[in-house]
Formats: sequence, C-alpha cells, structure tokens
Amino acid sequence: MHYVDRELNEECAVFGIWGHENAAKLTYYGLHSMQHRGQEGAGICVSDGKHLYDHKGLGLVNDVFNHDILDTINKGKAAIGHVRYSTQGGNSYANVQPLVFRSQKDSLSIAHNGNLVNAHKLKGELEERGSIFQTTSDTEVIAHLIKRDFADNFIESVKHALSVIKGAYALAMLNEHEMIAALDPNGLRPLSLGKLGDAWVIASETCAFDIIGATYVRDVNPGEILIINDDGVRSDFFTTHSEPAICSMEYIYFSRPDSNIQGINVHAARKNLGRKLAQEAPVEADVVTGVPDSSISAAIGYAEATGIPYELGMIKNRYVGRTFIQPSQELREQGVKMKLSPVRAIVEGKRVVMVDDSIVRGTTSRRIVGMLREAGATEVHVRISSPPITHPCFYGIDTSTSSELIASTHSVEDIRKEIGADSLVFLSVDGLQEAIGRNPALKNCGQCMACFTGKYPTEIYPDTVLPHEKELLV
Ligand code: SF4
Repeated sequence: MHYVDRELNEECAVFGIWGHENAAKLTYYGLHSMQHRGQEGAGICVSDGKHLYDHKGLGLVNDVFNHDILDTINKGKAAIGHVRYSTQGGNSYANVQPLVFRSQKDSLSIAHNGNLVNAHKLKGELEERGSIFQTTSDTEVIAHLIKRDFADNFIESVKHALSVIKGAYALAMLNEHEMIAALDPNGLRPLSLGKLGDAWVIASETCAFDIIGATYVRDVNPGEILIINDDGVRSDFFTTHSEPAICSMEYIYFSRPDSNIQGINVHAARKNLGRKLAQEAPVEADVVTGVPDSSISAAIGYAEATGIPYELGMIKNRYVGRTFIQPSQELREQGVKMKLSPVRAIVEGKRVVMVDDSIVRGTTSRRIVGMLREAGATEVHVRISSPPITHPCFYGIDTSTSSELIASTHSVEDIRKEIGADSLVFLSVDGLQEAIGRNPALKNCGQCMACFTGKYPTEIYPDTVLPHEKELLV
C-alpha cells in the first residue's frame, strides 16, 4: 500500500465510435482521457462490417497499446473500448473488456461500466440451461442473455436481456452492423452521446469528447437504448419504469472536473459542495487546503465562501505508478511519503482547514492529518464534502463491505479522534443535493445516495449482500 492510498476506486469507463476511419485510434485517445476510472486493464474492439478485431491487456492504456498494435486493429470505421477497475470478477486477463463473443453467424462485443446486483442469480439459471462461462465477470451474463434470446431480431433480444438484469450498467456494444449504447433504468453511471463530423461517439465522460474534438450532443437517458449505424442514431426504451438516480460520487469524486454530467460541470458542482460545507461548518482558520486532486475544487469553494485564503498545502507526486517498488513496512513506519507531501512553508504555524471528498476507512485521513501536523500546522480542521459513508455500494464502487467503512461503526466524534483532527464535519445529505443542483422535482433530486442513506434505488438480492450486512439495509 502507498503511504497515502486511494480509498475509493472507480469502476470502469466505456467509449464507442461509429463512422470514422480512425475509429481504433480515437478510441485509444478516448480511453486515455478516462484512465482515472480504471487502471487494471484496457481493450478495444473494432468492426469492419464483416468481422470484429480486438486487442486487450492488463495495465494502463499506454501499457496495452502502442502504434503498431493500433495500426493492426485500425481496420474498420467502428470501435468500442473499455478501461477496467475490477470490482467484480477479479483482475484476470479473461475479464478485461470489451468481451468478444464470436459465432459462425454473428459476433458481439460488450463493454460495461457498473455492477449487476442479480448477476449471481442469473448466472446460476443460465448454467442450469447449459451456458458455459469463460470469465468471472458479471458482464458475460448480459451476453449470454442476449445470445439465449437471439432470434431474428437482435435489438429485441438486447432489450429483453436489459429488462432482466438489475443494477448499474452503462453499456457500449458492437457487432458487424451496429453500435449500441444502453443505460440502466436508474442511470446510475453517466453515459453521453457526441458527434465528430459525421461520426457518432459515446463515452462515460464528456472529457473523452473534448480530447478527440467531438461535440457533446446529449446524455443517454435511464432505460434508453441507442442504436447507432450508417442510418444515424435511433432511440428506443427497454423499460417504462425508469427513475433517475445517478451516483452522487460521480460528482463528488469519480469524474474528471472538466466533465459535465447531465449538464452540470463536475468542477462547478464540487465548488458548490465546498461552499455549502462552509455554510454548514465554518471555522476560524488561516488557510484552506484540499487533498489533491479530487478535493481541490471543493477546497476552493470552501475558501471562497469563508474568505479564508486557499493555499496549496499538499503536493501530489504524479509519478508514483503501478510499477513503483513499494516501501517496506519499516520504511513506511519511518514516514516515507510516496504520494503526498505537505508544503511546510504554507502550513507551518497555521490553523489549517483540510478539505477532503470522503472518508472510507479513515486511514488516509489519519495519515494526512498527521502529515500536516508534522509539517507544523498548529490546528487541523477536517471538512468532508460528502456525508459519512455508512453503507456499502453494490453498483460498482469497491466499498462492497461495510466492515471497511469507519462511519458505519463510529460516530463523527469517534472518527475525529481516530484521525487526530481538531474538528471534523461532514456535509449533510440535504446540503449534498442542494449543492449539486440537480432537479429538485425528482426523487432525491435524481441522485443515488445509498452509501450515505442506505436507500438503494434498486432491489438488492440476498446473494449480493454479505450476511452481516443485511441489518444495514433499510
Ligand atoms: S451507493 Fe454511493 S457510490 Fe454506489 S452508486 Fe450509489 S451514490 Fe454511488
């Protein structure tokens, strides 16, 4: 483990393009811009109208692809791609996406962002009927469901499969004839449609459009399926029971600040979270600093609202990669700071407000507070731009056991003592909704907040939940 490690990990990104002669290369750039959402594996699948060609591997986009590989697969005008963080199914090559299924009649490639909550149940049913699974990923269940129903009408088969699966899924699918984008009935993960000349583009985050020069067209709606081919884009719905509940953490932490999610810029939303936090929890201090990178926007908002100057109190070392030789326990105990360093000149002798986006286990916060004190901060006041995470996420974020969540077993005062802060305040649930500024007419403003409230937008199946967590579900 790094000296200061990330406690919440993203869960993947999908990208797709239809109608561009450089489809594979543009997919590479799109995936690269969304690398923050998954660093364990990457893949691209291309269609030339007759066959699918794919390349994938473990590691970062740059590790998996080079010029020669991209030239080899740059065979057609349509491609989908994926970056993976393995919340379900483990980190093996077989689970790297897009998953590609070939048969004599047709082929299908699938890239999935999110987690299904009834995958285990469906897999059992499919196996009983003779399906043989090649991977341990829940995404393969979707392909088997489509194939099982695959009559003459492929789109109807897809719609039927999507109506059976439950949970979070933003999907990009590709066969020889069309590209498909689909979003679960709660729209738990972001998925947008863009345009590049005559080509259509889909991406988990709009930052992928910017990098390739595409323009944003609109977001995919919950329960919607887009069928994209040479005739253009056709919209259809696989359910009439949709209820928007996008993951609040996309705004708080996961997405890039330059992305817009359903018309709201992520940086602007985070600044508002910081402003709201300042209203709810002001404190007398000399400087405000944010934990890089995801908390800087909220720290700026907090500073603006309180009039306390924002300063760069911590620096992130950007070159601590996956291949970095981890320090031994002995070196860690000596305080070897690999990822984050305090700026002594800024914090020494100062009362510091340290803004962070979340507390999961509390270990990171304790280390950062300790680091600021070692660098001479006289007081450290911690302000968190989200409510306490008390419940596990079943939709693709790797907090799937509550035992990892300090706020599920500790009071705020106990957490404060645990992390060694002079004061600690979390943003309220109402403050979170207000600050993001989504539609107040929708239930919970159209946001999932289950990890803060325990109110899950989908049914949760018994085999998704560990026995000791059942009592946490409300
Ligand atoms: S439970 Fe939390 S992390 Fe999971 S989708 Fe809902 S808001 Fe996001």
